[in-house]
Amino acid sequence: MRNDAPLIGVLAMQGAFAEHKRALEASGARTRLVKNREDLEGLEGLVLPGGESTTMTMLMERVGLLEPLRDAITGGLPTLATCAGMIVLAREVTDGMHGQKGMGLLDVAVRRNGYGRQVDSFEAELEVAGLGGKSFPGVFIRSPLVESTGSAEVVATHEGRAVALRQGNILALCFHPELTSDRRLHQDLVKRASER
Ligand code: GLN
Repeated sequence: MRNDAPLIGVLAMQGAFAEHKRALEASGARTRLVKNREDLEGLEGLVLPGGESTTMTMLMERVGLLEPLRDAITGGLPTLATCAGMIVLAREVTDGMHGQKGMGLLDVAVRRNGYGRQVDSFEAELEVAGLGGKSFPGVFIRSPLVESTGSAEVVATHEGRAVALRQGNILALCFHPELTSDRRLHQDLVKRASER
């Protein structure tokens, strides 16, 4: 058992990266904001935050981060992707902008903004497999709707739809755990990162 804190990167193109950084530090991790390819060096875990998936992908392309990020995740880097982060990784994106494509690393088809616009944001108590204890407060803000899943394992549903999925080293969520005080899903990443 190691006793130093694992180093977790938070993709910081735009979106909710500051909230994830705080949640990770409160969960016992060291953190680094990832703004270019050099920032991936030495990471033991990664968060792809919520925000705007189109902007995030465009900015990653611009700074040359898209391919190195793909390689890092494909190489097994423990990853937590939330909301826009899930869209960025998806195999198929509908209602995307300008022929928006996901990176194809997560075997799901998602509909962007499938739960409606900002005013349709909601909270729901979710049973997340493997978390133990009480339900998890799911905060949904213009979240992607999972329309079909392939090899990804569904670990939570809401009204019959998958809202949390695991596939290998990736945990992908339609909701925003960084906006609650429940740290269990960040702790899950910290644990996976320290076991790596
Ligand atoms: N609707 C946003 C997108 O398409 C995601 C919303 C979010 O991350 N809260 O990227």
